[in-house]
Amino acid sequence: MTRRGEGGGARRTSVGRVLARRRGARSNAVAKPNGKAPAVALPVIGLASDHPCAGCAQCCTYVAIEIDAPTTMTEYDYLVWYLVHPGVSVFVDWNGSWFVKFETRCQHLQPNGMCGIYETRPAICREFDWKECERHITDEPADKWLFRSSDELMSWFEKQRPKTYRKFVAFQRAQRRKKTSKELRRIQVSEVPLPLA
Ligand code: SF4
Ligand code: SF4
Repeated sequence: MTRRGEGGGARRTSVGRVLARRRGARSNAVAKPNGKAPAVALPVIGLASDHPCAGCAQCCTYVAIEIDAPTTMTEYDYLVWYLVHPGVSVFVDWNGSWFVKFETRCQHLQPNGMCGIYETRPAICREFDWKECERHITDEPADKWLFRSSDELMSWFEKQRPKTYRKFVAFQRAQRRKKTSKELRRIQVSEVPLPLA
């Protein structure tokens, strides 16, 4: 992962392998006689009620980006940072690949669940076969691990990688010590405690 401050200080994750992945796809094909696209694009108005994707548009409501499996304390810290944002989760697939997932609805997804740019939709939408969608593969959970919050990640971390977890807790403490005295000079601290939520 690129550390913060590199690349002009941009707040981003840049990894050796960057892969946008969708775990499903809209399979809302317009009928194409002889397997060929029609000469004139027809409006896509809906799916047959028995189509496997009927009533679902889940795969058009997020993006998932592959990230390096965490090995350094900074990389674990990035995971915590992702997971303190609502709508962001991290998952590990059955190949052991790590992904960060952002809940974000495609701007072309129509209220009726159809693709508004069907003829010109991105290749990743075009290529995905709904038969590979997790909704149709029911004999195993979709992900090996799924973290929807930093608390979930830390619980997993403590249980699955206890030695590294202890190292990470020490890393966090050291980070806090390093910054606290300097920062306290620049922030105002109220003497009245905030009410607990
Ligand atoms: S069933 Fe799967 S492939 Fe079809 S729309 Fe839903 S998430 Fe996408
Ligand atoms: S472009 Fe179309 S198929 Fe692709 S995510 Fe958006 S609505 Fe779905």
